[in-house]
Formats: sequence, structure tokens, C-alpha cells
Amino acid sequence: MAEESAVLTAGPREACGVFAAYTPRQRASSLIYVGLYGLQHRGQESAGIATSNGETVTVFKDLGLVSEVFDEPALAGLDGHLGIGHTRYSTTGSNNWANAQPAHRQVGSTSIALGHNGNLTNTPDLAERLGIRGASTDSDLMAEGIARAIDDERSDQRGLEVAVMEVAPTWEGAFSLVIMDQGRIIGLRDSNGFRPLCLGSLPDGGWVLASETAALDLVGARFVREVAAGEMVVIDAGGVHSFYPFAGTDPRLCIFEFVYFARPDSQMYGRGIHAARRQMGERLAAEHPAEADVVVPVPESGLPAAQGFAAASGIPYADGLVKNRYIGRTFIEPSQTLRDRGIRLKLNPIPDNLRGRRVVLVDDSIVRGSTTRKLVQMLRDAGADEVHLRVSSPPYRWPCYYGMDTSDRSTLIAASLDVEEIRDHVGADSLGYLSLQGLLDATGVADAGFCAACLSGDYPTDVPENADKFQLERF
Ligand code: SF4
Repeated sequence: MAEESAVLTAGPREACGVFAAYTPRQRASSLIYVGLYGLQHRGQESAGIATSNGETVTVFKDLGLVSEVFDEPALAGLDGHLGIGHTRYSTTGSNNWANAQPAHRQVGSTSIALGHNGNLTNTPDLAERLGIRGASTDSDLMAEGIARAIDDERSDQRGLEVAVMEVAPTWEGAFSLVIMDQGRIIGLRDSNGFRPLCLGSLPDGGWVLASETAALDLVGARFVREVAAGEMVVIDAGGVHSFYPFAGTDPRLCIFEFVYFARPDSQMYGRGIHAARRQMGERLAAEHPAEADVVVPVPESGLPAAQGFAAASGIPYADGLVKNRYIGRTFIEPSQTLRDRGIRLKLNPIPDNLRGRRVVLVDDSIVRGSTTRKLVQMLRDAGADEVHLRVSSPPYRWPCYYGMDTSDRSTLIAASLDVEEIRDHVGADSLGYLSLQGLLDATGVADAGFCAACLSGDYPTDVPENADKFQLERF
């Protein structure tokens, strides 16, 4: 996904990473800080941590990468043994400080904080129900809904988890949440489990929640299990307690977690992501063989699939493009100017590995097509005789409403062009996409339940018409 993986360019990007820790014998902020490093790839616009010492909740958040937002004094100021953390890419609301997470609310003596990965599909309804005009993020609406539920029932001394149980069924769409008050952390997945969330245990008896297992590894936590679709886990001094707030569940993990979003060293549904991606490449080679001299990945996301393609086809694997890892976030603004420059800043060819060769170029997806076109031309300019493009997912034809920012359908090249027209547009000698069945089979867990709506148009839930990420800001 050349254009999508680059911070330089517009297109689908993941909508946040979440982390939480309940750790009686350590400072939670240190653990969360490290855990967020493992989730940086899921959101680079802002980062935040909220912690509690049992009495007071403290929040620190700002625009930027985890490494830019936090320093030792900031972490030292985040007191306490429990907390939550968040890395953000905006799918609702602008990228500004006020929209950074965790969101925070004070309700009498109760202080709550919330971090969200996903995208609600009934945001305007919720805002209207709450009488809110001008709010700009799903997390604000959810935090406000919880706060009011707590407030409504204060005379009953209802806990945070009861308030969440009450309001969560009013939320529609995708949400994997971490929530906290002074004394507990909560993890919650929507009834389809579009976005991942897993539970880990710490050697000192503590617990962590994270979007991906790779973040557990970073903090020395042992993977226990995934939080199930539709499950709420409450972690407090008494351990882990499980609840199911929704009427039913239908697991539909986003297939793009396997294709692109998740780190290759994570696992989901019990399957290693790297192995699944390599399998996608093997299947791609079987479905769309090519007469070629070398297999080249679009780094870094196309790498495992290219390895699989090379292994299955017998065509040698070679690095043909070098990724600049040090561009940083200066170029995160997705303007057209930066998009045009972005490809050259990000990827540069290795002519010695390309000159006079017939090249199979493997990427994980094509969304807009503009960057792919530049990549193909770049390989030709570097001396490639032929460029055969192979894509380890099916044509991306439909917008996502569940947390991947795909703007509107008119920007999706496969929504208006067929495969041959796309091949012509990007200037490749041949083009082959992995089939949906091939993709599902390659995950190794096809029956576990996936959303593939952007590939099939088959949405698991009702989706809004004409929704976009700034809808609330226009109220
Ligand atoms: S529509 Fe596509 S990107 Fe969105 S959740 Fe479903 S599979 Fe993932």
C-alpha cells in the first residue's frame, strides 16, 4: 500500500492504537509509554496517556509522535498504578489538540478517561440525543454519554462499568475502547469486533490491554487472549471480569488488519500476521503467475507477500526500492503538493537490481492509484524492462465506515475502472489482484469472521450515506 502507508500521502490510514495497564507494583505511565511505541504505526497525529493513583486522574496529550509528546518530566507527572494510552489518526474530526485522546470527563467525584480505535456510524444521532452541537470526535460523544449515565444514577453508586453497559448499545459502528476511572480500566469491543483488542498479563500480577500483541511483547506481558467481539473486560483489584453489553455478536475483524494495518510481528485470531502475508504472496503467485527475472516488494508493507511470491514462483527476490525511514511527521499534511513530492522522498530505486530485468512489483493494495503509477514509472526510469504489478488483496472498491480513512468512493480507482483499465492507468505490463477467497484462505482463519466490505460492498451493519469525518464540525 504505497500511498496508504506513507504519511506523505492521502488515502486509507488506520484510526488509532489503544493501550491500558493495571499494574499494582509499577508506575503505569512508563508501561503505557512503551506500549504506545508498539502502536505508533496505527496513528501518528497525536498521543496521550491518562493515569490514576486511586484518587486523581491525570491526562497528558499532545500532537505528535509518542517520542515527541512525552519526556521524563511528563511521564513523572503521570502518577499512579493504572491508566490508558492512545495514538491517534483522525477518522472523525480535525487533527488538533482538542481532538487528541484520551478524552476526559469529571462527573462529581468520578473522573473518567477514554481512548477509541474505530469509527461510529451513528455520530449525528448520538450528538442530537446528547444535545451536543460542535463536538468533533466520537470519543467525545462516548465519554459524554458515559459521564451522563454515571451522573444520572449517582444515588445508586453505580460504577463505571454499569454506565458503559447502559450506553454502549446506543453506539453503532466500530469501537475498540479503553476506558478508566480512578480505580479500574475497561476494554470494550463492538459486537462485530472490527478493530482488534487483546489482553495480556504482567509478571508482577498486573494486566494490560492493547490493540496488538506486539505491544504486549514490548512491555514484557504474556498474551492471554483476545477480548472477544462484543465483550467488555473490567480490570480492578479483584482481577479481570467479563461482561457482554450487546444483544448479539457477529465477529467481523477488519481483513485489512491482516493485509496491511497490523504489525507483522503481531498475531490475530491466533495467526501470525507475517506468515499470513507471506501466504497471500504464495497464493498470488498461483493465481497470477508472471514471466519475470526478479520479485521486488514495495517496502515495507509489501515485503512478506513478495517473499511468498518469490518462494512460490521460483523467481529470485530482490530489493529494488529503498524506503527512507527518517522522513518523520513533517510531511503528514496530505496536501497535493506533498503527495506529489512524497513518493520521491519516501522511496528510491536501486538501479543495479532493476536494470534490464523483468520485474514483479508486489504491493498489498492499490487505493487511489496515483502513487502506484509513479512507482511503476520510477522502476522503468531505473532501467526495468517490464513491470508486472501484483497486489496481495482484491480491488478496493468501496469506502470504509469502520475506522479506515478512505474519504469518498470517487477517489478509489477500482470503483470506476476495471483491472485492465487500472493496469493501463498505472502503466504496468500486467496486473493481478489476489482474489477475496485467496485472501481469506491465506489468513488461515477464514472462518473466524472478517469484514471485507471495502472489497465486496457487503457491509455487516447499516452505514450512513454521505458520511465523512468532518460531519460534526459542520453542525
Ligand atoms: S470496510 Fe474494509 S477497511 Fe473497513 S473494516 Fe471492513 S475490511 Fe476493514
